[in-house]
Amino acid sequence: MADVKKEVPELECENCGTTSELTPVMTYVHQGEEKHVCTRCLPMLIHG
Ligand SMILES: [Zn+2]
Repeated sequence: MADVKKEVPELECENCGTTSELTPVMTYVHQGEEKHVCTRCLPMLIHG
């Protein structure tokens, strides 16, 4: 069996800097710009 690695781009939370390897990172679009935020920072984002 070949050692197949998935080529998944590592995303980084723009708020706390964590990576998608440690915490799930979501991608969203705000004012036409693509942003990335982890699930930990998402509630903060919602509450402003
Ligand atoms: Zn974060």
